Amino acid sequence: MAYDVFQEGWRDTPYWWDLAPRPDLLQIELPDKVDVAIVGSGYAGMSCAIHLARAGRNVLILEAKEPGHGASSRSGGMAGSGLKLGYGDLKAKYGKQRAIEMTLETERSLEFFEDFIAGEQIQCHYQKVGRFVGAHAPSHYESMSRNLELVKAEVGIDPGYMVPRSEQHSEIKTDLYHGGSVKLVGGGLHPAVYHQEFLDRVKAAGVSIASFTPVTGISREGDGFAVITSRGTVRADQVAVMTNGYTPRAAQDLRRRLVPVGSYIIATEELGEEKITELFPNHRMVGDTKAILYYYRPSPDRKRIIFGGRAKTRDVETAESGRLLHQFMCRVFPELQDVKVTHSWTGNVAFAFDKLPHVGQRNGLHYSLACNGSGVVKQTYLGMKSALKIMGDKDGRTAFDDLEFTTIPFYDGNPWFLPIVQRWYQWCDARVR
Ligand SMILES: Cc1cc2nc3c(=O)[nH]c(=O)nc-3n(C[C@H](O)[C@H](O)[C@H](O)COP(=O)(O)OP(=O)(O)OC[C@H]3O[C@@H](n4cnc5c(N)ncnc54)[C@H](O)[C@@H]3O)c2cc1C
Repeated sequence: MAYDVFQEGWRDTPYWWDLAPRPDLLQIELPDKVDVAIVGSGYAGMSCAIHLARAGRNVLILEAKEPGHGASSRSGGMAGSGLKLGYGDLKAKYGKQRAIEMTLETERSLEFFEDFIAGEQIQCHYQKVGRFVGAHAPSHYESMSRNLELVKAEVGIDPGYMVPRSEQHSEIKTDLYHGGSVKLVGGGLHPAVYHQEFLDRVKAAGVSIASFTPVTGISREGDGFAVITSRGTVRADQVAVMTNGYTPRAAQDLRRRLVPVGSYIIATEELGEEKITELFPNHRMVGDTKAILYYYRPSPDRKRIIFGGRAKTRDVETAESGRLLHQFMCRVFPELQDVKVTHSWTGNVAFAFDKLPHVGQRNGLHYSLACNGSGVVKQTYLGMKSALKIMGDKDGRTAFDDLEFTTIPFYDGNPWFLPIVQRWYQWCDARVR
């Protein structure tokens, strides 16, 4: 019989839910009217809600499933300040001044996040271990190095340092990469514990949360909105759509500006702290420079590996993705062939066509959307910025305001073109030198 990578009794739910299962909230009666209705109970929705409630607004979160059912309790839990586009790309596209502002704002988002969890005394296993990004090709190492120098010279922040291939094992015990870069800020957390503790603070701030209440329509009514749900209609002065990779047809104008992409993760059986430290000497979060990247890390207790990526060009069952990710993990660490997988799960991230985060207002609806694969820090930060915008506070301004939130003709939010685009990315990954 073929070797099965799965441990008997493996689960298709996030490893994170073992410690922090999705909360079973008492169902509330829907109010007739609120100041602000927020659609979605991930980090963005909760962050927006808590800041509004503390400023005296009457806030209702409407969630289609259990709180945190979306990406926020499923992620890799890597908390960093990066954007999908490097500084050089931002500069080429938006000019030097705007690129500097965007880069500085993402650095500030990490500071905000760290202050927030410290101030709220959120115990989410946050470890400031930094991040290593492996260069998939020598040319990637060169361009990372150039980008780093540019950031240092033009933005004036410490962007980290390069680690040549000859010293790579001091960061990660693999020969897969052509060196890489280390960024010492940020680190990793337990995403579902973060969500749970955050939710406790949101409830304590007086926010009402209606779980299993999908929003099916949003329409203008007088100066405000009628938010139609499966359990009735709520009137709201303002509405914030915080649904990211799960954005529904009820917010079709926003949905068609987002490309939802399934990301897949596995957790391995326990390897022990000694083995983990041998593989990840500094326990850093790890990513790489491929167009279809791997991201992985030690679990917060440093006993397992959490390994993620896009398993195939099309969406697959978690049994298939688990086997594929195990293969990918063994490309990084060939010695892990016999290590079993205990959890294999998936969740949606949302990309914008310009690969940047989007925060603002369209047709009266507020939103903070398009994390482009990294939203633990950013959605916490931009949710807060949305709250300020809703209250008309000028501090709600961000360097990402006024970006055109583009779409393509005839696109309705169903990304039928993903397999084609991803084949192209695979082709590029295979050929780059
Ligand atoms: C597998 C995976 C790995 C990731 N790894 C990382 C990582 O390591 N680091 C990082 O920074 N980011 C990572 N991300 C991205 C990060 O998790 C997200 O950016 C972030 O959690 C998004 O938060 P959010 O609040 O915007 O959306 P979500 O947490 O996705 O919440 C949206 C919510 O909207 C709800 N909803 C949808 N439709 C409706 C409706 N009609 N009515 C009511 N509610 C509705 C959904 O049920 C969902 O709960 C990862 C994501 C995934 C999926």
